[in-house]
Amino acid sequence: MLTNVLDQSAEYLFSTRHERLDLWCDLLQRCRDWVAASCCDAKEQKRREVVRIGQHLQTLERYHAYPGQRLMAIFEQRIGEHDDVGTLRLARRICSSLLDSSYRHDANDWEPADDLPDASAARYSINQPSAQLRPYFELLIVSSDASSTWAQKQQDIRNLRRHDDAFIYQPIIVGTYEDALMAVMLNPDVQVVAIHDGFQRNANLSARLRVMLDQYQSLVGSETYEDPSLDLSVALKQLRPELDIILLRDRNIERTAGNPQMAFINRVFYEFEEPMEVHLCVVEGIANRYRTPFFDNLKRYAQRPIGTFHALPIARGKSIFKSNWIRDMGAFYGANLFLAESSATTGGLDSLLEPTGNIRQAQLMAASTFGAQAAFFVTNGTSTANKIVEQALLAPGDIVLIDRNCHKSHHYAAVLTGAYPLYIDAYPLSEYSMYGGVTLASLKQALLNLKRDGKLERAKMMVLTNCTFDGHVYNPLRVMEECLAIKPDLIFLWDEAWFGFARFSPLLRQRTAMHAATELRKRLKSPRYRQQYTEQCTAQDAFTDEEMQHNRLLMDPEHTQVRVYQTSSVHKSMSALRQGSMILVSDDAFAQTEGAFREAVFTHTSTSPNQQIIASLDIARRQMNLEGYDLVMRATQLAFVIRKQVNNHPLISRYFKILDVADLIPEPLRGSKIASYVHDKAHWSTLSQAIINDEFFLDPTRLTLSCGHAGFDGTQFKQLLAGRYNIQLNKTSRNSVLLQTNINNTRSDVAHLIQVLVQICRDIDDSIADDENQALQLRSRVTRLVEDLPALPDFSCFHPEFRSDALENTIEGDIRKAFYKAYDLEACEYLKLSDSMIDQRLENGPPLVSANFVIPYPPGFPIMVPGQVITAPIIDFMRNLDVQEIHGYSSSQGLKLLKPEHIE
Ligand SMILES: *Cc1c(COP(=O)(O)O)cnc(C)c1O
Repeated sequence: MLTNVLDQSAEYLFSTRHERLDLWCDLLQRCRDWVAASCCDAKEQKRREVVRIGQHLQTLERYHAYPGQRLMAIFEQRIGEHDDVGTLRLARRICSSLLDSSYRHDANDWEPADDLPDASAARYSINQPSAQLRPYFELLIVSSDASSTWAQKQQDIRNLRRHDDAFIYQPIIVGTYEDALMAVMLNPDVQVVAIHDGFQRNANLSARLRVMLDQYQSLVGSETYEDPSLDLSVALKQLRPELDIILLRDRNIERTAGNPQMAFINRVFYEFEEPMEVHLCVVEGIANRYRTPFFDNLKRYAQRPIGTFHALPIARGKSIFKSNWIRDMGAFYGANLFLAESSATTGGLDSLLEPTGNIRQAQLMAASTFGAQAAFFVTNGTSTANKIVEQALLAPGDIVLIDRNCHKSHHYAAVLTGAYPLYIDAYPLSEYSMYGGVTLASLKQALLNLKRDGKLERAKMMVLTNCTFDGHVYNPLRVMEECLAIKPDLIFLWDEAWFGFARFSPLLRQRTAMHAATELRKRLKSPRYRQQYTEQCTAQDAFTDEEMQHNRLLMDPEHTQVRVYQTSSVHKSMSALRQGSMILVSDDAFAQTEGAFREAVFTHTSTSPNQQIIASLDIARRQMNLEGYDLVMRATQLAFVIRKQVNNHPLISRYFKILDVADLIPEPLRGSKIASYVHDKAHWSTLSQAIINDEFFLDPTRLTLSCGHAGFDGTQFKQLLAGRYNIQLNKTSRNSVLLQTNINNTRSDVAHLIQVLVQICRDIDDSIADDENQALQLRSRVTRLVEDLPALPDFSCFHPEFRSDALENTIEGDIRKAFYKAYDLEACEYLKLSDSMIDQRLENGPPLVSANFVIPYPPGFPIMVPGQVITAPIIDFMRNLDVQEIHGYSSSQGLKLLKPEHIE
């Protein structure tokens, strides 16, 4: 059934934990077959399959506390004794415990099923009433002792448990550097690593694990230190930055503790110190990460008897629960919502506008978890987060380089700040009526043009969407490096509204803004990079534009400033309430900007921010810190399952396809040549190369389902899924819909989706089976949807009146001036799309100039912005557009234009 579990398919590099679960399920099935087989030969053959899978599992199980070496030994013993029924029974017990994680709390799961003495349960003392289940984790010990001593050592550690520990944990012991890396990658339950001096190098890994390890090591970097424990700690932190690390040394511990390179180590112990001290340190480390300063206080606040005389009648809920008419509100939401409402900033509730207490602490913890220097909570969505960042850093007349397809908050921010947007077009994917990302070549060209025209000084900021709605992921490190080589103080705003979760995948993290900012700083400090720059800089200064385009440019380590901002709609990819968003800052010059930043926060933040949204941001941080790694793996795994099921299904794949890497990223932007997530075999190294080097990468969790071949346009299909099948999905394009897996999805959701797609395909088959007419209609619908596609109109230009100079090729424009011009009704006129006047003016002038933003959904980006000259391709696109929702355009009035006599 799962014949490819042992191959190198992409999903298992992204989602290591699932390979193991899949193998256990596979093993269970084979045990059943073994029991069921009747003749001797068949039985022996089935047994050998059990042995084969079992051996592979052995190599993985040493990285997990459960089932552990003891149960695994019994398992092997039963196979050896040809005890098919006993093997099956044990496999079933282990499997079910792994699937529902009951081993975390049920001591019986740790005993072989059929000889369960009651007393043994107490030995592990992990049984507890389910209402007060303590959170569970695993402690990885990297040991230098002989493996024969490990079982006793594990037991000694378990004996340290106390009833009043807030958490419960199980120890795992490994003896080598490689095993330690594998353990933290394969086992998401590992939260703390205790490293003893003197562990070995070079583990005895199976060939397949070795390949896997190589990919992880390629993410770790090549820095080495004199100290093996430090090497290992750094590598582990690169893979999973949230881990707590404890060093146990037999000498020089004072020197270690004072070493600034080791600042990230949680504690250093003298090897022979009280084990209880280490135990307490382990538990305390987790308690610190578990802490949610704002939420914890809000819970306390809600329990206090408080009389309120401030302006928030809903607080405490008395007017609701006693109401004759709105009691159902109280019943629906429950008392806590109202007990937790307050407009006070006293009682320890802190102020979002000027946090000094627990909001400040919560933000500091978020900064650390998300890899930033500072984090700011925003309770009005990333729409507001973007405006805050842009207002803080841009002044009227500044130039902001910006992806024309970016979220509308950026266009409106340009209106608010008076900065001149310089729109750069992303590469088009006309076949699917959507855009990809902006190529590095276009970004560099835009900067070089500004330099040529003497305007580079005014270019303050670059704004890019990472990842895009459709899953195009930039290479922020490369983009920033090369743009900084041209403009060393350029500020970057990466709109990672969808991509906040990426931090918790060691693979996707490589492509986040915060990670890239940290790496940029490392490069700027590295003697090797300085050397490279010195060697290249004379040549680089003399490069022609052409050469600038085609060579990798290096940053000047003397003059480059790393100034990176990231906004994240926490509510879109993590467990925050709607509108919960964060601004993450990694800015060398933040001290200079801080005042303006504060003003921008004051401008856009409500004076009555919602307490529950703030609390949910605090909680989302806790969750991602402690289980983000696991959850993101799970979401990624489901995405791969959907990709495979749809694209390989004999019926579904006739009408539907999840677009693959090669469909969405043109080959020149894929140096690795990776083409597919579902077809390639043996390509882990291609995959890790793609992640590190390719100009664009496809986020596997964003699934563009092409539905044109089934005769549906995106909107129709979305309505069908929602109306008839209760499946809600993300956005649509002309001939596709976007599905997305997130940390909330389960395998049952996937099964439901597949079932529905099969049903829809059957319906199509039935409808055309004996009806030639229907078949013809379907074919013509398909042609219209997948072939007759309107060309996507690129940005044209601003009318000269709205440019800052008379240069012919000026792209950036004074969008604010045009925007406010339209407030003068006298200056505006309307023309209907069908009016032949439009064609005449396109032909003979005067030019048509848009008075406002026109944003059709889909595709969801502005086809026109205020002050933009409307060209024939734009009119064609509008005339062919068959969507209902067009913001800024009323079909009864027509296009809103600025009158020529008011702008000439
Ligand atoms: C959704 C989105 C936003 C706005 O975020 P909200 O939290 O909905 O305000 C900004 N940018 C991008 C790319 C988005 O997808």
